[in-house]
Formats: sequence, structure tokens, C-alpha cells
Amino acid sequence: MLKIAFHPCYEHPLKKGHRFPMEKYDLLPKQLLHEGTCTVDNFFEPKIVAETDVLRVHTEEYFFNLRALNLPKSEVRAIGFPLSETLVNRELIITQGSIDACKYAITNGIAMNIAGGTHHAFSNRGEAFCLLNDQAVAAAYLLHHKLAKKILIVDLDVHQGNGTAEIFKHNSKVFTFSMHGEKNYPFRKEISDLDIALPNGTDDQSYLSVLKRTLPKLFKQEQPDFVFYLSGVDILVSDKLGKLSCSLAGCMERDRYVLEFFYANSIPVMCSMGGGYSPDIKTIIEAHANTFRIANNLID
Ligand SMILES: [Zn+2]
Repeated sequence: MLKIAFHPCYEHPLKKGHRFPMEKYDLLPKQLLHEGTCTVDNFFEPKIVAETDVLRVHTEEYFFNLRALNLPKSEVRAIGFPLSETLVNRELIITQGSIDACKYAITNGIAMNIAGGTHHAFSNRGEAFCLLNDQAVAAAYLLHHKLAKKILIVDLDVHQGNGTAEIFKHNSKVFTFSMHGEKNYPFRKEISDLDIALPNGTDDQSYLSVLKRTLPKLFKQEQPDFVFYLSGVDILVSDKLGKLSCSLAGCMERDRYVLEFFYANSIPVMCSMGGGYSPDIKTIIEAHANTFRIANNLID
């Protein structure tokens, strides 16, 4: 069964109208339940992540200041959220959700987090709505507990996984692959193990042909035994921030290809959602729901 880490928003940390579409985290599980893709049994509620697990990836100074809501103003500005206990707690739960989802992925083939993909969080600072790097924390957890020997991170959010690249730049056990918009945030990019920068306006055909050329090669070359997939839907032509021209069908084909590829090769995949900023929330939900529909079909 597809297990999905879910984090109820008892209290919205952001006011309505904030440019970050927080409501998708409520609407997406509702949609999946409503259409029958999922039942309540698919979802699980993680607890708060242990300090030791976070500190394999983030510096003590950053983490303790974040938890104490005591970050310098400039760092809070770079994060883009007003810091609050609710927001930080939510992030601690999401991060544990990705760790738990890894264990489900090892058993079931694929598992997901209905949030996460906070790839702009660096070891010592947050940035662009990202406080803690959930997949990086989970990757370090797997290595520490010898649940994986070689990890591949497939980051297909339209923005470069700069935080993830920085965190693992000296770690040969984690291969970071980011395919992103060349002329998009972050404008000063980090160096991943493999970066593919796509020009503005890249359409389905070019996008998918690059991906389908690259993934089998990477798989052969790196021989990962665990994969993280960051399935941001900000590659859509409708996205306010994306600058690429992929369709909903193209985005779905991307997810199908990635998930099927690793599933067919018996490599567990933990998938976090990442970004999506289409003006119509329905488009965002539809694109993210596709990722869950595909995963659910595969492992059912
Ligand atoms: Zn993004």
C-alpha cells in the first residue's frame, strides 16, 4: 500500500493571500480521498524529528536558533515566512515524515510526503520557504543506519536544489542530480553532482527527451540502492515562477517515467512534493495528484 506522510494544518501558519500556496497541503489529500485514489489508511501522521537526525545535516547554530525562533532578521527575510512556533513545528514533523516514508519505501517500493522537498535549505541557513532540508535529513538517516549505501537524489523541481547540492558536495555516497530552469532562481547556483539547466520555454518533448536520456545513464553509472524524487510541479507552462512550458500531461509523463523506472529496477523511491505556483490552485492540485495516482497504481 502507498504510504503518505500527512501533516494536518490545525492552524494555518500563514495568512490567506500569502504568495506561498499553503492551502494545497489541505486540498491535495482531500482530492485524493474524494476521488478514491486513497483511503485514510494510506496516510500516516509523523511525529517531531529527533534533534540528532537533523544535526547530521544542519549546523547546531542554525538549528537551535531556528527552533528558538531566534534567527537574524536577514535570515528570516531570506526564508520568506514569518517565523512562528507553528511553522517550525510543522517543518519538524514534515522532516520526520520523509524519514518515515523512506522506511515505507524500502518495504513497499514507493512512499511519499504530502509536503517537503525543501531543497533550498542549506546546512547553515534556510532560504525561499525552506527551513530544513527534509530529503537531505532523510538521506543522512539512511546512510547512518546503513539502510542505503548509495543514494541518488533526482530533483526535478524547476528551481535548482541548491541547498541539497551544498549539503552533499563532499559526500560521495549521495549523488545529487538537479534538472532546472537555467534563468530561474537561484540565480547563483551551487554545483550538484549533475546539473542540467534548461532554457526558458522548454516544452514536453525536449524536457522528456533530456530526462529519458539521462536517468538510465545515471542509474547505470551510480548504481544507487535508494532514490529520492523531488516532484515539483513548477515546470508547468501555467506556473507563475517556472518559465518552462510543460503541459499537465508532460508533467504526468515525467512522474510516470521516474517512478516506473526505479520501481521496475526494484529501487525504493521516497518522493517529496516540492513547488507549484500556477495561479489556479486546481491546476496545482491536479498536477500533484497525478504523482500520487501514478505511484498508487504502480504499487497496488
Ligand atoms: Zn520550485
